[in-house]
Amino acid sequence: MNQRLRWITLSDNSYGECIVSVAPTARAGEAQFVTLRRRLSPGRWPLWSQPGRVVALVLLVDTLAVLLAALALRTPTTPKDALGFAVLAVGAILHLEAARGIERLREVASEGVAYVNLKAMWNFAAVLLLPPALAVALVAVTYTHCWVRVTRRTPLYRKAFSAATIVLAGAAALLVLAAIDPPTRLGLAEGPVGLLAMLLAATAFWLVNHGLVVGAILLSRPGTRIRTAIGEPSDQLVLAGSIGLGVAIASLMNSESWLVVVLMVSVLALHRAVLVPQFRNAARHDPKTGLANSVFWHEMAGKELERSRRTGVPLGILMIDIDHFKTLNDGHGHLAGDEVLKAVARELQQQMRPYDLAGRFGGEEFVLLLPGVGAGEVGHVAERIRARISGLAVPVLGLDGKASQLDHITVSVGAAVGPADAEELDRLLLAADTALLHAKEAGRNQVVLAPC
Ligand code: GH3
Ligand code: MG
Ligand code: MG
Repeated sequence: MNQRLRWITLSDNSYGECIVSVAPTARAGEAQFVTLRRRLSPGRWPLWSQPGRVVALVLLVDTLAVLLAALALRTPTTPKDALGFAVLAVGAILHLEAARGIERLREVASEGVAYVNLKAMWNFAAVLLLPPALAVALVAVTYTHCWVRVTRRTPLYRKAFSAATIVLAGAAALLVLAAIDPPTRLGLAEGPVGLLAMLLAATAFWLVNHGLVVGAILLSRPGTRIRTAIGEPSDQLVLAGSIGLGVAIASLMNSESWLVVVLMVSVLALHRAVLVPQFRNAARHDPKTGLANSVFWHEMAGKELERSRRTGVPLGILMIDIDHFKTLNDGHGHLAGDEVLKAVARELQQQMRPYDLAGRFGGEEFVLLLPGVGAGEVGHVAERIRARISGLAVPVLGLDGKASQLDHITVSVGAAVGPADAEELDRLLLAADTALLHAKEAGRNQVVLAPC
């Protein structure tokens, strides 16, 4: 930059000025290009930083999809097919453009959970309506468009993997249709057999696509629960609806292709509803740790205690506080402190059963709701959690910017059991809090049971 400026000043001024104003942009463009080239250079692919089993799954699925795409290229296409492809491609692009804001939010909110894809309707319609070569081409168009316009931050390998699962899912659906009722491929079959064939094909499409994505999430994030990776049941309903709309689009295009526009208006109107689970989740969870927030935890704890009073089944409660967390923050910085909070939250989740509920009460205090855990057991659970947390080694960036590992993280735990220790939630929490205070006073890094 400096050299260029010096050269400019020695030359014609007006030309120089022109270059001076253009130079930073050109430089920025150059830098962007270099960054893009770096990102695309195979040696730097983020895929290689994944565990070996994830790399193996991704490469296997991608290779299978490429082989299927190569096979599909051999199927003949007619001008009518090309027109159908154009309608579906334009429909998919307009749909995503109109719902781009919503999809960005959904994508961000779906980290660690299968991102339910509304492009499925266009791709499933293509499977039913178009020759395989054009169906594969539509997958390429819709996923490239989505990557460029919505999910640019997502590593390319993940997007390519998702696209590959759709190619495999389409092939599975076609196999099912061909096995049961060949004419269904054009969306023309009638009667119960046609319906059955369509339902099974849609199920195969969903199973292959969703199953592979959930599998990849589970392999790349060990400890994630299957239920968490699968995502909200309402998201699955949206996916089912999306595949159903794919069938509707295909049949409509077979008869009254212009009416697809009417269907699109309905699709866009309904698309707004798909954010409901994300809003509900955001209202219930602490953004830093992903655990239940205090309000939601209280609500659930109140219900569980009520059930416990009714049925006589005990309800264990743990109150957990990180020891000397302020000192840790002061010594290593708040960002390192945040990493410790997240690591403790992850450990709590890993130690829980599916029907337990961990919450962040605020700061460095956590609570655990343990339905069915009585006085005889609650101490063992608390002790196991205390021991696991004391064994954590959390990678952090220190105040000096150097990477290091924080260990010797300890917690004090107060445990109480409802309704034996208290029949109301506030009193039960007070009992657990008092026990926690005793644990602190007794030297920290220990469990104390109420009543104490
Ligand atoms: P004790 O062993 O008695 O529990 O001591 P402590 O230092 O853990 O407790 P104290 O209540 O004195 O300090 C809690 C600290 O937690 C103070 C606050 O700055 C910090 N904190 C609260 N929320 C967050 C957060 O979200 N991130 C980080 N990094 N620190 C937080
Ligand atoms: Mg503390
Ligand atoms: Mg505290």
